[in-house]
Amino acid sequence: MSPIGNKRSLFRRVFGTIFAVALAVVVVLTVAGTAYLQRNLADVTRFELHDEAVTLASALDQTDDDIATIESLSLEGKRVTLVAADGTVLYDSEEPAEGMENHARRPEIAAALADGAGTSERSSSTLGEVMLYQAVRLDNGMVVRLAQEQDGFLAVLVSLAVPFIMLAIAVLCLSFIAARHFAATIIAPLQEVDLDHPRRNNDAVYSEMMPMLDRIESQRQELKQQMRALADNDRMRREFTANITHELKTPLTTISGYAELIAGGMVADEADLRDFGGRIHKEAGRLTSLVNDILTLSNLDEAERSELDGSASVLGSVEPVDLPRMLESIQQRLEQMASRAEVTIILDIQPAMVLGVPRLIDELAYNLASNGIRYNLPQGTVTLRCGIDVEDHPYIQVVDTGIGIAPEEQPKVFERFYRVDKSRSKARGGTGLGLAIVKHAAVFHNATIDLASELGMGTCITVTFPVQDLPEM
Ligand code: ADP
Repeated sequence: MSPIGNKRSLFRRVFGTIFAVALAVVVVLTVAGTAYLQRNLADVTRFELHDEAVTLASALDQTDDDIATIESLSLEGKRVTLVAADGTVLYDSEEPAEGMENHARRPEIAAALADGAGTSERSSSTLGEVMLYQAVRLDNGMVVRLAQEQDGFLAVLVSLAVPFIMLAIAVLCLSFIAARHFAATIIAPLQEVDLDHPRRNNDAVYSEMMPMLDRIESQRQELKQQMRALADNDRMRREFTANITHELKTPLTTISGYAELIAGGMVADEADLRDFGGRIHKEAGRLTSLVNDILTLSNLDEAERSELDGSASVLGSVEPVDLPRMLESIQQRLEQMASRAEVTIILDIQPAMVLGVPRLIDELAYNLASNGIRYNLPQGTVTLRCGIDVEDHPYIQVVDTGIGIAPEEQPKVFERFYRVDKSRSKARGGTGLGLAIVKHAAVFHNATIDLASELGMGTCITVTFPVQDLPEM
């Protein structure tokens, strides 16, 4: 679009401003100039008229027949009037003297009769023409008067109309050229702004633009962060989906393989049949744990989202949880598993209450305790501990004397499906989601997790809750 076509173009504004200012200057100068010119012209005419009147008077003083002398002179463009001492008009070069009224009261005549000479001026038309009068008394007592018309202000102005219009057109053209130039000069730094790196423009742009560029930069950074977070989320979601598919497929393949053998009558031996049935049962159990863990995680994800938009949690109601009683229950449920692994569970419990979702806190502690057993060594121990620390924070701590986690693996074990030793995890019925659930359950309760571990020595995981403000029971 052309710069003139666009109503809001910078060019239009610059052009409008320059033209308006220039035109105003031209108008003011023309008016002032006209007034000055008109004044000057009137002054010159007045002087000339005075000189001519004095010359005429001295000529008349030397003749006897004033009227004949006046008529013999050629005084072009001037009106000559001869007035008697009583004001009677004796002669006028433009009108018959008889029809003219007595002039004794005309200011220039009255002044000439009294003082020898007099001047005056009177407007004579709508265009502002003025009549200049100069009267001089003769030796014989009569008065001779010369009058000349002088262009008034409007008349001078009208006579200047053509140059004025030409000047206005010139101003219009010059304004157009100047506006093009200024608009381009003003726009140039704006067009050179590097919006991809707003802070690098410091010297190249107007200082007034810096706040705007700063805002663009901070919004760009925000956008970048959001894009990165979105990309991370997307990558994690895709990895999670791929992992779930893989994790679900493995037991299903095993189950369907054994089931096919049994259904096809390929297993004749009773002992084999029982063995296959056992394997199918074990894989089905693994599938159940996997689906349960995935459900819990998805509920935690949903809870985190709904906490953000203020809707109710999908995990259940928040209520006071008695940590010692909960650890006792976990010990009982894991007793069998522990004795199979030749691991002893030790309870070291102090009174502690936490306001939370009971099922989630139970799952958190259960996962830590079962890991303590599954990644332990025969004759090892798992200590389930709870209490209130010195800063009044309730905590749950699970300490084992197991295989430990290498320092470089420690940050990764809370990721979904991450296992240090995949075959060991699977052999012990792990889903790879236990610690991910622990992490999300802790986040949900605003708790922090501390992991301390040494290879071959054991692991200690502490979950510390915020100071509780529990309702009176
Ligand atoms: P899994 O179902 O495989 O146990 P988790 O998420 O509970 O999955 O744990 C992730 C990985 O962290 C485990 O596979 C294991 O390698 C390691 N891990 C977890 N707890 C312990 C522990 N107490 N001692 C040693 N390694 C552990």
